[in-house]
Amino acid sequence: MSIDWHERARALQIDGRILIGGKRLASANGETFACISPIDGRVIGEVARGQATDIDTAVLSARAAFEDGRWARRPPAARKKVLLKFADKILGAKEELALLETLDMGKPIQYSLAVDVPAAARCIAWYAEAVDKIYDEIAPTGPNALALIQREAMGVIGAIVPWNYPMIMAAWKLGPALAAGNSVVLKPSEKSPLTALRLAELALEAGLPEGVFNVVPGFGHEAGEALALHEQVDAVGFTGSTRVGRKMLEYAGRSNLKRVYNELGGKSAFLVFPDFDDIKRAAQTVAGAMFFNQGESCNAPSRVLVHESIADEFVSLVAAEAPKYQPGDPLDGRTVMGALVDDGQLRTVMGYIEAGQAEGARAVTGGKQARTESGGYYVEPTVFDGVANTMKIAREEIFGPVLGVIRFKDEAEAVALANDSAYGLQASVWSSHIDRAHRVARALRAGTVHVNQYDEDDITVPFGGYKQSGNGRDKSLHAFDKYTELKTTWLRINS
Ligand code: NAD
Repeated sequence: MSIDWHERARALQIDGRILIGGKRLASANGETFACISPIDGRVIGEVARGQATDIDTAVLSARAAFEDGRWARRPPAARKKVLLKFADKILGAKEELALLETLDMGKPIQYSLAVDVPAAARCIAWYAEAVDKIYDEIAPTGPNALALIQREAMGVIGAIVPWNYPMIMAAWKLGPALAAGNSVVLKPSEKSPLTALRLAELALEAGLPEGVFNVVPGFGHEAGEALALHEQVDAVGFTGSTRVGRKMLEYAGRSNLKRVYNELGGKSAFLVFPDFDDIKRAAQTVAGAMFFNQGESCNAPSRVLVHESIADEFVSLVAAEAPKYQPGDPLDGRTVMGALVDDGQLRTVMGYIEAGQAEGARAVTGGKQARTESGGYYVEPTVFDGVANTMKIAREEIFGPVLGVIRFKDEAEAVALANDSAYGLQASVWSSHIDRAHRVARALRAGTVHVNQYDEDDITVPFGGYKQSGNGRDKSLHAFDKYTELKTTWLRINS
């Protein structure tokens, strides 16, 4: 029997209180903010408005937990056991978490269930499984000396995450940070704080000691800034906009020079060469990747570079695909595109659509708001033709369902256009020539390059960007580098 998600939503009790040291608390000054669902613009609950005092309490709780070794000094296999249980708890609460995620940020319930919840659980489980299989190193430097090179947990990690994949982004920080033995203070986005709070409760139920994982909801300029400036935070794992990523570096400079790992925006290029033998598949793939999550993905392939000889055909194919992603009710299990996160994001996206038209690009499909009668924030899947790489819609991250097609004459121009961006998160090259595919993939300045596909993803591979898309990498074993220090211990051996 299919689930009536509206009925479930009506029955849901929302607890928006802070979670520090294993306890649910109001904010120190009692302030809250309204949690508005983008599905219909209605208030679904009140959430504690954490500020500097609350952040201070959370960081000190995390610090105390780290210093007394209640988590950090447990053997890796013991940490693994708790984290595997945490992953099981996430899967056990699948429907509740999926519902919270969809109500909070507007993505279709079918994807919250099939993508976000399992991906968050798998991430936690993967780092749990990894942590007791990593060995430290010994450097045999000479007859009388031995150097041990060991990884140690760093201490207190501040995790600041965005609203587009709230649970997955939190899990990408929590997985490696907790597995390595750190304590964490997580500041979810004010636009989507609900699942983070439930995750922390589930972690406690799984046996994670109190104080090891704390969540303080609140606004960026209040709770976020206080966390990034705190002297007792050893590293900040930040995912969000390039604008705020810059501030993270400033905050570290103004405080204790904490490590800052920025995972920022993107304007990913999707290059289609005329030698590719199935351009219909390329068109279907770009539409699927672009309109997934309402276009609110950092790696959305929003700059489509197509050889001029196939551009007309390609544009028609994409224009035929796009309407299949018509926005619908996110709580209907058949919906493939949901609501934008809030009214501000709706206005931003509509502003970009107007800017594209004003600069001479042509919307071949979409371009308008949708479902206005719902009270929520919906935009049609939009495809622009005639885009120049100098236009605002080609240079700036839109973070909505808007794709632009740019034409190129030859391979050199395609590569130059793809790399002519402040960002370098992902790219994709479509060619049936193995030499060209490799040549172009090598030339592209991006953290991830896909060849003849865009869908593959796995926790085993690093995720992050070149240039202003950030530094550091989430996912994979490399993420442990962000949350551990390397210590060298020299030993003298008398002969
Ligand atoms: P944002 O930068 O506005 O906010 C991100 C987080 O930072 C939120 O929790 C916010 O409250 C907090 N914040 C805002 N101002 C702050 C300040 N002054 N001090 C401290 N914290 C502050 O980004 P967003 O709108 O939530 O998310 C969208 C952005 O995230 C896009 O640019 C997208 O590309 C990027 N993103 C990147 C990745 C990646 O892995 N590279 C993944 C997902 C999203």
